Amino acid sequence: MSIEKSKKKRAAGAVPNQMKNDKMITAGTILLNRFEVQDMIGGGGFAQIYKALDNQDNNTEVAVKIEDSKQDIRRMKLEITVLLALRGNLGIPEIMGMGKTKEGHFCIMQLVGRNLSDVRRKLPNKCISPKTLYRAMLQVLRALSIIHGAGFLHRDLKPSNCCVGYIDSTRIYLIDYGLTRQYLDKGGIVRKPRQGVGLRGTIRYMSLDGHARRDLGPNNDLVAFLYTTIELGDGQLPWSYEREHDDIIKLKQAYVGEKLCAKQPKMTKVAEYIESLNYHSIPDYDKLFSMVEECNPPDLKPTDLYDWQSL
Ligand code: ADP
Repeated sequence: MSIEKSKKKRAAGAVPNQMKNDKMITAGTILLNRFEVQDMIGGGGFAQIYKALDNQDNNTEVAVKIEDSKQDIRRMKLEITVLLALRGNLGIPEIMGMGKTKEGHFCIMQLVGRNLSDVRRKLPNKCISPKTLYRAMLQVLRALSIIHGAGFLHRDLKPSNCCVGYIDSTRIYLIDYGLTRQYLDKGGIVRKPRQGVGLRGTIRYMSLDGHARRDLGPNNDLVAFLYTTIELGDGQLPWSYEREHDDIIKLKQAYVGEKLCAKQPKMTKVAEYIESLNYHSIPDYDKLFSMVEECNPPDLKPTDLYDWQSL
């Protein structure tokens, strides 16, 4: 669960893990006269995710994300706004509807498969193989470039927010737009950074700027991308088992560039480039795409399966 979410949850007086236990919708409920709710398939910090069948489209399986009406409605509104703005783009789940029950606000979206955090943990050596990792992360990077290009920051990129496609398991989708922020103004100019902002995102994947409560830019999403890649490929980050912020910060300061990428040396160039960016930098995505592509093992074939396809 992300920091911002846990803070709001406590403020609303919710019981921890409630989202995972008490079902907000019962199986068989029909939403928007069309979507028949099935089982609950996930519970995040605030939301519950259900599978549903679309009665108007050959019972296609979709996902329902519902947030308790006691929660701050702005998060769901934001998620819906961003999903609508990004509609039709590769790597972004399609949104099919939205509404409200007495339990909470919901949106209907494309069903995706397992998230990469769960996938990694299920693999025998708890690491995603290089042949899978960089192909997958290239897709995450493309989705991120689309989000940034539309003027938004994701602000909670992490392995559990990167999901394998449900129908096409060679695709990766970036989910959870409840913490996004518009960083470009209407004229496409980067908004002035604010001072002393609250913590946003998830500690483990947060950049040092985030720890310092600086306003975040696209570079900080890229740091989260870098930490996500290292964790998925190495099985952990150097600070994975630290609990204290100060200890985590010290390790993040110590593990940069070559040292951070000791087990994935080809990622060093990517790390150094990302670390060279600041709030105002416009990332050169083409450069990043080719640097991540270069990380692919030379014997990679287009027919090679992704790790989860043989799980
Ligand atoms: P929260 O906003 O509460 O953190 P998320 O959107 O991150 O909730 O979803 C929590 C989990 O539910 C995800 O890690 C994922 O495994 C699952 N999930 C989310 N969206 C979908 C979806 N569209 N299809 C299938 N599973 C999903």
